[in-house]
Amino acid sequence: MLDLEATDTCSNCGYELTGLGLRGQCPECGQYFDHATHEGVGEPITPTDRTRLWLDKHLRTTTIAVVGGLMLLAILVLMLAANIAGPTGFSIFAVLVVAWLLILVASYFEET
Ligand SMILES: [Zn+2]
Repeated sequence: MLDLEATDTCSNCGYELTGLGLRGQCPECGQYFDHATHEGVGEPITPTDRTRLWLDKHLRTTTIAVVGGLMLLAILVLMLAANIAGPTGFSIFAVLVVAWLLILVASYFEET
């Protein structure tokens, strides 16, 4: 016997699925649900959960974004502090920024 009490809501929108059969489509959002496999059934995913899931999935990209961003910021501050910016300095900095962005995009799509 299946326990339909604990997780008897649509996992996408939270709609009450009681009495709608073992499997079918959520009347509210149309998501497929199946109580036998628990697909589409359970607590609705909150925006906070989505963010956490995204961060878990894209941990490497997030790390590259944060660490790379901080390094670029440190380089910029050092360049300005040492007064070695100039046109050449900023060209090098621009190349570093573009390289960082390319690495970020590549990392993101490799993880997706
Ligand atoms: Zn739904």
